Amino acid sequence: MSVGMKSVTDRLRDSGLLRTQGLIGGKWIDAYDGKTLEVHNPATGEVIANVSCMGGKETKDAISSAFDAFNSWSKLTAAERSKGLRKWYDLLMAHKEELGQLITLEQGKPLKEAVGEVDYGAKFIEFYAEEAKRVYGEIIPATLPDRRLFVLKQPVGVAGAITPWNFPLAMITRKVGPALACGCTVVVKPSEFTPLTALAAAELALQAGIPPGVVNVVMGNAPDIGDALLTSPQVRKITFTGSTAVGKKLMAGAAGTVKKVSLELGGNAPCIVFDDADLNVAVNGALAAKFRNSGQTCVCANRVLVQEGIYEKFADAFSKAVKNLKVGDGFGEGVVQVETFVEDAVSKGAKVLLGGRRHSLGMTFYEPTVLSNVKSEMLVSREEVFGPVAPLLCFKTEEEAIHMANDTNAGLAAYIFTNNLQRTWRVSEALEYGLVGVNEGLISTEVAPFGGVKQSGLGREGSKYGMDEFLEKEGACSTAFELYFEDGLE
Ligand code: ADP
Repeated sequence: MSVGMKSVTDRLRDSGLLRTQGLIGGKWIDAYDGKTLEVHNPATGEVIANVSCMGGKETKDAISSAFDAFNSWSKLTAAERSKGLRKWYDLLMAHKEELGQLITLEQGKPLKEAVGEVDYGAKFIEFYAEEAKRVYGEIIPATLPDRRLFVLKQPVGVAGAITPWNFPLAMITRKVGPALACGCTVVVKPSEFTPLTALAAAELALQAGIPPGVVNVVMGNAPDIGDALLTSPQVRKITFTGSTAVGKKLMAGAAGTVKKVSLELGGNAPCIVFDDADLNVAVNGALAAKFRNSGQTCVCANRVLVQEGIYEKFADAFSKAVKNLKVGDGFGEGVVQVETFVEDAVSKGAKVLLGGRRHSLGMTFYEPTVLSNVKSEMLVSREEVFGPVAPLLCFKTEEEAIHMANDTNAGLAAYIFTNNLQRTWRVSEALEYGLVGVNEGLISTEVAPFGGVKQSGLGREGSKYGMDEFLEKEGACSTAFELYFEDGLE
């Protein structure tokens, strides 16, 4: 283990944040068969820690403890739940630096981005601490004079939350925040690549006084854990962020017990630069939308569509800006896949303007790459690249850009760069996407709904709408005066 990494892990251990066991019913627990799995630093390949490798049995116990805890947690007042969440937020912020280091260690993103993720991730807990107090129902004017109708919002029950490796903290807080605010309890299954941040966050939830069993964490054998969550009638909700393929499996699996399902799946985000865009704004926005997290977010620009009048100027300025990016952190898993996409594009006529090879740093590093002359039918335009490759496609008219942008099964994020106000409205509305950034490359915030259309997912996270995913609307009818059964109604 390198000296730098050792001092970081020692510090984390000293502050009690380097947890390696699962959390079930408020207790830190080994896998029942004692198995462990290695967590690696993707930038160096070093083993950071061995964590419990759990499966179906541990998950069933985690579900039982969440089910028991639901009884009391859901009956607390909203203000009491809010207080617990607020304390959790304060602790996440108090440990911002250590959590950031942990994210960099196991996920590989630059420390500045990792600390930024802690800020972003913690804000979901703060926001939902506030939102907990605003779960308003509704009174509906009754159809009979002696009746009163109302809608009561109730927590759906135990939620299973399955999260990916690209945002080890934020993908968890974005789910657990609203779940707990509504009165649900959770079984979290973080990615096996990045479980340490999830475990540290769970430790801080305990320290914040969130009762045992309200937040449980299991990791290890993903399909076994997934099956236990899907088949349990006690789990009433599955919330997932990850690949479209796994999301579809979970949706099918949830049908057996008719669970509520939220899915945040893959994107294929177009970034459209019109002739009338401000070149600097477009270059910086496209850079942020493309290369944030090394191109590994589901809202990352996947295709840069550039109008012919600005194409050459943009390609030149964009390549220069990409050239100035500093490489020094892990690019995660997909290097081989990225290579295939680039080879396919080049064999079909694309030109490499910059990069196009594995980085000399080795391991999982790939050079920031810009391809020009890319066509819609190339793999790099059709599949989610999830890596630092920006393909530039040329278009002539607004209609053509909209058609190219929508010609995909995905529909998560899109970006447009234009200074024409009417075009902004026209194109934003015509794009079949859940999120549209206008002259802006960074669009995620806890106060706005995040989610996709088409095969990019179901449901919304963040904002007041994120609460709906964990609530049932219970319609109730009450007699205000005397009971009459003469109307023959149900
Ligand atoms: P990504 O490409 O982001 O890694 P995945 O869909 O492979 O996306 O993984 C996202 C999460 O889904 C991870 O926590 C992973 O362990 C989990 N996962 C993968 N396969 C299954 C499965 N069959 N059942 C439940 N969870 C799964």
